[in-house]
Amino acid sequence: MAVLWPKPFRYFSDVRLFLLILCIILSLFVVVVSFFLYERTGNLLLQRVREQALAYADLIDHTKMWNYDYGGVYVEKRKGVESNDYLLRIGVKPDLKTTDRRTLTLRNHAIMIKEISVRSEQQDGPSFRIVSAHPLDPANTPDAIEMTALRKFGQGDREMSQLVMQNPSGPIYRYLLPLHADKSCLECHATRIGDVMGALSITLTISELVRQTHLSQLLIVLAAILIIGLVVGITYFLTWRLVINLDEAQQRLKRLASTDELTGLRNRRHIMGRLEEEFERSNRLGEPLCIIMLDLDLFKKINDTWGHPFGDHVLKWVANRMNEVVRAYDVVGRIGGEEFLIISPSTTLGEAVVLAERLRETIEQETINHGGTVIPLTISAGIALMGKADINSDDLIRRADAALYRAKQAGRNRVVV
Ligand code: GH3
Ligand code: MG
Ligand code: MG
Repeated sequence: MAVLWPKPFRYFSDVRLFLLILCIILSLFVVVVSFFLYERTGNLLLQRVREQALAYADLIDHTKMWNYDYGGVYVEKRKGVESNDYLLRIGVKPDLKTTDRRTLTLRNHAIMIKEISVRSEQQDGPSFRIVSAHPLDPANTPDAIEMTALRKFGQGDREMSQLVMQNPSGPIYRYLLPLHADKSCLECHATRIGDVMGALSITLTISELVRQTHLSQLLIVLAAILIIGLVVGITYFLTWRLVINLDEAQQRLKRLASTDELTGLRNRRHIMGRLEEEFERSNRLGEPLCIIMLDLDLFKKINDTWGHPFGDHVLKWVANRMNEVVRAYDVVGRIGGEEFLIISPSTTLGEAVVLAERLRETIEQETINHGGTVIPLTISAGIALMGKADINSDDLIRRADAALYRAKQAGRNRVVV
């Protein structure tokens, strides 16, 4: 996991938790919306095919009643057109001879509906048939789904629909409506008007519609995955950027808080803290530790003679010389107006004296001038080596300060141990 996160991220476990929760919430939102769309698409399919089936049922009923209202219609008995036996069974002679010697045969409403159904089915259209628990025509015997529908209609249900997916020629939609006995039924069936005498069973082939619906649902799932990926990616990226910026800002603040504004050296707070750390470390490891306290000689006079801004310039100049002379592991700070402190870890007294002397000589020898006038500048230094008597870093400071005082007393421009 650590490899996946930028370095500063490891310090922001709260941000990581926040990011995780945010991503989960956003992803959940996308999942819920997608699920809703997915379901809605499926429901729209069912709604559409039901409306289609209802429209067919309506048309079938109109066609049937159209026939019934005419008392059946006669069709010409040509090749392939046979008289219907069932009419004979109920005592109706189906055939009729015309004066021009043609034979017409009767098609009543039930036969007509059945013939239209067969024709529609042969042309891959919707098929429909009328089924009954006690059919006159054995071809109207219900199948399993139709039996269930008839039972439900007997209990008062008003419709039944079912999507049958395992059909080898593709999914089909079965829609069934109860058939209540009306006047058209009474001539052949012993029943009362309003009784459920059977069901209108409509079957629609919907493979294309289902294919389109599945495609839409697949697109919804893919879009959801893509959106979740994008949302998580963008959230991660933005938070990552934010954390990097925060980390940089924190580093900048830290640097500012520990830097002396004028000279760019460490400020008093920082160097005193650092001294405490070094004191502890040297004590623990039994290594020598030296500190050098430095003070510019007669600096007040420079200020008074050449002005405070020039005094600032001198302080910066001295700070630069110090940075040049000290070693990489020495720490330099400004602890007062024109007072400086150098912490020299793992340094013997002799080495500290050499360092302080080199610094003193550099400042004495290099000239600093103001508008052509060369200004003489010297420093005094007091050195203290950490000893057994020093309980803490304050003791060390006190001894360095005393040494510096003695350097001043002894005439300045010198190093005193
Ligand atoms: P000594 O050799 O005894 O140290 O004499 P000195 O004049 O250096 O010591 P003193 O403590 O009397 O004067 C220090 C002066 O440093 C007084 C003050 O005006 C000046 N000073 C302190 N901070 C700054 C600063 O930030 N900028 C400038 N230009 N002067 C400063
Ligand atoms: Mg001073
Ligand atoms: Mg001074």
